[in-house]
Amino acid sequence: MIGSQRIRDMEIAQNETFDVTIIGGGINGASLYHQLCRKGYRVLLVDKGDFACGTSQASAMMVWGGLLYLRNLDLLTVAQLSRDREAMIQNMGCEVSPVSFRYIPSRDTGWNKFIMAPALYFYWMLGLCNRDRPRVEDSYSEKSFLIDNAHDSSFLYQEAILNSSDSRFVLKWITEQDSNPGIALNYCSLTGGEYHSGEKIWRLTLTDEITGWARVAKSWCVINCAGVWTDTVNRQFQIETPYKHVFSKGVFIGLERQDQHNYPLIFDMGEQGDVLSYIPWGPVALWGPTETCLSSIEGGVHTEPEDVDFLLERANRHLKQAVDPSDIVSLRCGVRPLVVKKDYSKNRYPLDLSRKHQISRDSVKPWISVYGGKFTSCVSLAEKVEEQIRELVEPGQASLPAKRNVTSTMQWESYPGLQDPVPSLKWCIEKEHCLTLEDYLRRRTNISQWVPREGLGRNDENVPHLEQLALQFSGGEPVIARKLVLDYMETVERRFDSVLNSVY
Ligand SMILES: Cc1cc2nc3c(=O)[nH]c(=O)nc-3n(C[C@H](O)[C@H](O)[C@H](O)COP(=O)(O)OP(=O)(O)OC[C@H]3O[C@@H](n4cnc5c(N)ncnc54)[C@H](O)[C@@H]3O)c2cc1C
Repeated sequence: MIGSQRIRDMEIAQNETFDVTIIGGGINGASLYHQLCRKGYRVLLVDKGDFACGTSQASAMMVWGGLLYLRNLDLLTVAQLSRDREAMIQNMGCEVSPVSFRYIPSRDTGWNKFIMAPALYFYWMLGLCNRDRPRVEDSYSEKSFLIDNAHDSSFLYQEAILNSSDSRFVLKWITEQDSNPGIALNYCSLTGGEYHSGEKIWRLTLTDEITGWARVAKSWCVINCAGVWTDTVNRQFQIETPYKHVFSKGVFIGLERQDQHNYPLIFDMGEQGDVLSYIPWGPVALWGPTETCLSSIEGGVHTEPEDVDFLLERANRHLKQAVDPSDIVSLRCGVRPLVVKKDYSKNRYPLDLSRKHQISRDSVKPWISVYGGKFTSCVSLAEKVEEQIRELVEPGQASLPAKRNVTSTMQWESYPGLQDPVPSLKWCIEKEHCLTLEDYLRRRTNISQWVPREGLGRNDENVPHLEQLALQFSGGEPVIARKLVLDYMETVERRFDSVLNSVY
């Protein structure tokens, strides 16, 4: 069902001239949308799928001060990221919280133990001692589920983490602006268009992925925040930049959380400087992520049985109670867009590549491309892009009509298998651009990550509940609702069941 608000938004998109159009509603596009709307720009944000349906739904949700960069002694980056982390903790207390992490050194690379203590202390100082002072702990609750004698001391240090989920964090930047004059459209692809140099305006073809209707939107300026698709979009519009993305796939498996699991654990795996994390999140704990170089993302990216096999094997080196595919509650897969120079042709291990961002402005056309980026630096990235926009276009005088009433408080409901309530589907449809069952289960709530088999339950026991929910998308038609659930079950079979069945 298409809401009347969406139809109105589509109409506005084709009738107005926007100061800026942002392509991509992941963390980069969403935080930039917020920044520009706040500054009075008339902004159109489009995403070809749901908001946060790309890499931004698959992260570790850490807001970290750049510990990784200490390895290369890139102290300026550590100081900058630590500053960004502090600013997020200060300004976004409801969304971001300080959390202690427990680093567990590998016994095989025993020397790491002696490096880690001073390194974490130095890291803490680079963060201007704002977090808790790092300390060594020999006895800790998590030891109870780790293999005996394999782990001695741990190092406790503080970072921050997103409170609810990465997708809800992205959504918040967008919905906060729903009473302001910006238009954000999910399931709306940029499929073509060109720059009219006489009028100095972009005419962009947007295709509504729900109805198939194509519209033309006018915009003075375009910002490409399409994540791993940034180069594809640039090629489509013949935009040249000094950068390109290389791709690194990251997979987590979700396992049932143990009672004694209080802090995220970071295990030194003793191989190529790799670490794997075990992050408590609601009723599950995420184990991963992998780092696999991909040459292409055409055809989509999925969890492969090898990814799961790799993670289970590594988990069983540390967990007292062995885990196998039947213990997996959920899978989580995303691709990191890592920025490199255009002429980069090496095949370096992805962990050795920078996770910084770069902004590239076209010398002729008003088009900005954003490469790389992460949650921690989303605010400073948005501020930097806004500086560039200021040189290209003045904030518009005329305002777009205000749209949603975002002042009412969230409504909650229960879901089988979860102790805590989740945002109600009705609320998400009315207030949060929720258009499909998957939007609700994966990104408006954490149901598909917390309840086995993406919310269906181990033996499909939640199907009747899902059919009730689906009635809200089918206009009360039970046959259509049933079909929506069957389609969802097919996706789960492909994406979850068949992967795990192939692991042995
Ligand atoms: C396993 C893993 C763990 C990570 N952990 C962390 C972490 O702990 N902390 C951290 O800060 N970062 C982390 N990251 C990195 C972070 O998640 C990404 O860098 C970030 O999400 C990228 O955001 P983005 O907005 O650039 O891309 P995306 O989130 O992929 O957004 C791009 C959007 O563009 C849309 N799009 C593409 N083409 C078009 C088009 N033609 N028309 C309209 N829309 C289009 C897509 O649908 C997509 O939604 C992790 C990444 C991975 C994979």
